[in-house]
Amino acid sequence: MKFDIVTIFPRMVEAGLAEGVISRGIERGLLDVHVHDLRGYTTDRHRSVDDVPYGGGPGMVMKPEPLARAVEDIRTRRGGPDAVVLLSPQGRRFTQAEAVRMSALRHVALLCGRYEGMDDRIRTLVATEELSIGDYVLSGGELPALVIVDAISRLVPGVVGDSRSVEEDSFSRGLLDYPHYTRPSEFSGHKVPDVLLSGHHEEVRRWRKKTAIRRTLERRPDLLDTAALDDEGRALLDEIKKEQEREP
Ligand code: SAM
Repeated sequence: MKFDIVTIFPRMVEAGLAEGVISRGIERGLLDVHVHDLRGYTTDRHRSVDDVPYGGGPGMVMKPEPLARAVEDIRTRRGGPDAVVLLSPQGRRFTQAEAVRMSALRHVALLCGRYEGMDDRIRTLVATEELSIGDYVLSGGELPALVIVDAISRLVPGVVGDSRSVEEDSFSRGLLDYPHYTRPSEFSGHKVPDVLLSGHHEEVRRWRKKTAIRRTLERRPDLLDTAALDDEGRALLDEIKKEQEREP
């Protein structure tokens, strides 16, 4: 899977790509990530990427020409991206479902904004979609780009060593993940649930499924409206609700 990231802070993005799962995916040739310095697409002596806003007001606005040239260059040298993503707090919310959708694409370009954001003609003429990573405002699109590349890359086959861990992650099945424990079996007077030490695989599986459903019900009941629970999942949900009714 190919990613192209356009930014005025390439080192910030490269640092985020240099460790962990993504860097291993790049080393193994499963991910092909290019970071483009937007200033390399300027034509003036000062390498300007921003200018004052028409109509006045605070802040600076990212000029459209360098961004358009960067995307054109990516098209020419790297092939046409399936999606050109403008990162913005005003975009559609990036979720696990969006990550799944985008993991089926072969090539995604991401445009990182700074200042007050980009000249709006980049949204209408160059970008194919506008994504937000949440309802808060960051100083730039570099962290959102890394968030999106990371979430999509985890879904590219082979990037995460054991695909079962991705399948069991929060949101993948519409549920939150079950709790995880490792040694020691007792820590600060708190023991690991007995069932996990029992060696009984079927009981462990059922406990994990039930705990995932319970956590989702307690923390994110909204997810259960759309989670595709099987017969066992629905029975476990009823069981949990009955247990909760009995709890003081
Ligand atoms: N004036 C803009 C607004 O209120 O919508 C905010 C601009 S923000 C300070 C600068 C850049 O950071 C944006 O152009 C965008 O690329 C990025 N950014 C900030 N928050 C973001 C978010 N929640 N999701 C995605 N990108 C974000």
